Amino acid sequence: MFNASLNTPSPSDAQHVLAEYGWDEGWEAEFAPYAARGLTPGRVVRVDRGQCDVATSDGVIRADTEFVVPRDPMKVVCTGDWVAVDPEGGDPRYARTILPRRTAFVRSTSSKRSEGQVLATNIDHVVVCVSLAVELDLGRIERFLALAMSSSSGDALLRTSALSWESGAQPMVVLTKCDLIPDPAGLSHLVQDVETAAPGVRVVPVSARTGEGIEALGAVVSGGTSVLLGQSGAGKSTLANALLGEEVMAVQAAREVDGKGRHTTTTRNLLVLPGGGALVDTPGLRGVGLYDAESGVGQVFTEIEELAADCRFHDCAHQAEPGCAVLAAIEDGSLRGRRLDSYRKLLRENQRIVAKTDARVRAEIRRDWKAKGAEGRANGALKRGRLR
Ligand code: GDP
Ligand code: ZN
Repeated sequence: MFNASLNTPSPSDAQHVLAEYGWDEGWEAEFAPYAARGLTPGRVVRVDRGQCDVATSDGVIRADTEFVVPRDPMKVVCTGDWVAVDPEGGDPRYARTILPRRTAFVRSTSSKRSEGQVLATNIDHVVVCVSLAVELDLGRIERFLALAMSSSSGDALLRTSALSWESGAQPMVVLTKCDLIPDPAGLSHLVQDVETAAPGVRVVPVSARTGEGIEALGAVVSGGTSVLLGQSGAGKSTLANALLGEEVMAVQAAREVDGKGRHTTTTRNLLVLPGGGALVDTPGLRGVGLYDAESGVGQVFTEIEELAADCRFHDCAHQAEPGCAVLAAIEDGSLRGRRLDSYRKLLRENQRIVAKTDARVRAEIRRDWKAKGAEGRANGALKRGRLR
């Protein structure tokens, strides 16, 4: 980029650095009150041990997160967050607040409890990677897509009924290792199969080996922040390297001194792509569970939800009800039975998770009320009658 002033970085340079990480007018507006307080904006590129690495216009700095609402697991600083940090000071500095998240990628924890765990935030594209080296599992693709489409606006996460797809990330499917399917007709058949499992979702065959499709993928992910999802072995790391270019990987890996005085190489989890856009690659994104993905399930199975609108009964379970439009579509061959099975399975799983989450949220609200009640009594007449 042409630089008018050679010595001092101009504000537009600073904006340019932030823009590489996805800074835009919306973020600038959100940040205005913090700018007025003299704080510096930055994007979290890595989180560990209560601290985080924040990319700012003066480079990547280390920040402590103790001032940012620590008790809510959903509000813990996460890779992808935009934060306001102290403009200067010690190392580490302090992160003072998280800007409201546009999207949050949440998965149910692997434990029996169903609290969600925020894996990445402010994601624009969820790229579901599916290997062509093994037989296609359409059910698994649907599952990944439901997860992708349920990623929701951060502040709505605990209000389980308020999820919105509008604020979620845009999903796409890449069929990796397409060099293994040399027959073009065979490949386009596979693409079509996946398209039926993912109506309205872009399906792109790619090969890191031959480079096919990499440019098309690069163009999509250049507009915003992306994550690569998919099973182990699907080719995510190889694809990330292809998008990043190896030099970038080497440059963005930072040498750091650990607590024992050793030099260790740490890799950032949010990387700027040379072709534009950013890629989040956190180890946690490997496993997948559904967390309150009902709106996502609906998005993946739009054709079933559309059919269901024509069922005679409003609460039709599409099992044996008279006038069921879904069963009629299976009967006449326009809907595959497998799709209805997947739909039922995902809805059931999701309802179990939501039921558990609701119970937890209610318990939390009760606790909160009790605490407020005690506080109210302690404050005596002043607060009496004003607790709501
Ligand atoms: P990850 O676990 O999803 O990160 O998958 P990897 O990127 O580690 O890839 C798994 C395996 O698939 C490795 O042995 C790669 O060499 C292989 N692989 C990745 N991309 C391609 C490709 O485009 N073509 C072929 N033939 N193999 C690939
Ligand atoms: Zn029905």
